[in-house]
Amino acid sequence: MKPINADLHCHSTVSDGLLAPAELIQRAHANGVELLALTDHDELGGLAEARAAADEVGLRFVDGVEVSISWGDDQTVHIVGLGIDPANPVLGDGLRQIRSGRDARAGLMAAELDKVGIHGAYEGALRYAGNPALVSRAHFARYIVERGHAKDTKSVFDHWLAKGKPGYVSHAWATLDDALGWIVGAGGIAVIAHPGRYRLSRTERRELFGAFKDLGGRGIEVLSGSQKDDEVSEFARIAREFGFLASRASDFHGPGESWIDLGRLPNLPEGLIPVWSQL
Ligand code: AMP
Ligand code: MN
Ligand code: MN
Ligand code: MN
Repeated sequence: MKPINADLHCHSTVSDGLLAPAELIQRAHANGVELLALTDHDELGGLAEARAAADEVGLRFVDGVEVSISWGDDQTVHIVGLGIDPANPVLGDGLRQIRSGRDARAGLMAAELDKVGIHGAYEGALRYAGNPALVSRAHFARYIVERGHAKDTKSVFDHWLAKGKPGYVSHAWATLDDALGWIVGAGGIAVIAHPGRYRLSRTERRELFGAFKDLGGRGIEVLSGSQKDDEVSEFARIAREFGFLASRASDFHGPGESWIDLGRLPNLPEGLIPVWSQL
């Protein structure tokens, strides 16, 4: 059977993507995507527009979200919820609560950046954030490139915004329990986003996967835009061992700013159960 072109993780201007929800759908459709989930950070505001646009071109659409959580010793982990009910009030309130911390965090980040010679970053980042409640490091990165301090957003993270760099400010996001409760309570399937991106030891990683599973988590992004081949085999092995469903997830943010374009990842490794078989 021919595998379907599913892409279950991407961002619009409602969080830190560069394309509006409808534009994202058009690009996905043009790229041959057959099943798309929009998974904006901590926000559901783009889903209605995306679904309407998807209906128009005949693309199957999944309501999604990417929830920011804090785990262990100041680690940020992202949990994707797929097939959630966007009208679920508990999920809506939970996400609103996460968003409410972003503005103060942005002020602290700007103060730190100011000390290392990057001025006006709060106002600058807000200009890039379509939704002020969702000002993210990606918006800071765009401003810092605009000011000529770096050639692209990736090097901004390497120099200023990644953990341990001068503009990084630690932040308390939701807990793993909260995120799983909200996603599962809203009828969704919870998936660990880009598992290769966390700076965790093997033991810590297994602790995270175990806790996630105990709380009702069901999937893992075996294929993610930012993952290398050896990581794909490692997470395929983890999926089999933990009995996780496997996702295929570009994490597309926009042309020129992403690891890979919509729908352009390879097929899932053999022998895994695709998460979309359950959607
Ligand atoms: P925040 O939710 O404000 O912490 O911002 C996280 C976002 O920053 C991620 O969703 C990515 O869009 C972006 N990001 C994080 N790390 C990197 C990186 N190393 N290179 C490029 N973008 C990154
Ligand atoms: Mn992002
Ligand atoms: Mn993420
Ligand atoms: Mn993402």
